[in-house]
Amino acid sequence: MKSIKGIIFDIDGTLVLNQKALPGALETVSSLKEKGCQLRLISNMTSKSPVELSHMLGSMGFNIDPEEIQTAVSVCIEYLNNHCDKTVFLAIPEKLLPLFSGVNKTQDNPDFVVMGDLDSEFNYSLLNRIFNYLTSGAELITFHKNPFYFRDNAKWLDSGAFTMALEQATGKTAVVMGKPSPVLFERAVASMGLDKKEVLVIGDDVSSDIQGARNAGLKSLLVGSGKFQPSHLETYRISKDEFLPHISDLITMLEKDDEAA
Ligand SMILES: [Mg+2]
Repeated sequence: MKSIKGIIFDIDGTLVLNQKALPGALETVSSLKEKGCQLRLISNMTSKSPVELSHMLGSMGFNIDPEEIQTAVSVCIEYLNNHCDKTVFLAIPEKLLPLFSGVNKTQDNPDFVVMGDLDSEFNYSLLNRIFNYLTSGAELITFHKNPFYFRDNAKWLDSGAFTMALEQATGKTAVVMGKPSPVLFERAVASMGLDKKEVLVIGDDVSSDIQGARNAGLKSLLVGSGKFQPSHLETYRISKDEFLPHISDLITMLEKDDEAA
């Protein structure tokens, strides 16, 4: 606990499951806060803002401020604000547009194209327009590169598939804001004002949380809930010290580490 001053939690499958707090998650979060540990909750979710996520978590009993939550979208806005001299073409769902109100938008030769989660609004003419912006020099920014997602027991093509098609067609590489890209993790660490070695990442998804933590040079713990499958331990070479069977075991595990140190 002494060496760890900040924890970055994934949300779904790690702290909550099926709209409910996982057993021990509420107590673990409040105990960490009491001990003065800084927390950040990160998510690739694009349908909810940090304020909405804070309310959603509040309704489950968590006391998490919007400032403690970072999403692929909030980090993207921060990224654009840090490049405020650049013009941006937004190919994003209409409900996200108000969040991007401070961005220098254009419909003509943008410096950046932000593309994400348009689902059935993706069409040839839009993709071809983005393709031409990119070949004229624009940089592609995306929230994530998931090729598909699950809804109603079916697989649905996700925006990552279109990002990859545009990368293939243009020979350019998109800047990814969400997990497993290091951007979201690094912003979370920077916002806590901590050094990477003082921060621990905890998540249920080996390919986004654990791989993302590793990409960002951060320590991680894979939790045995949500998307966890026992086969991941071997496939991703997760050692016994990097595995947390239940979120309720976290405080004991951190205290044990201190004793061993
Ligand atoms: Mg998860």
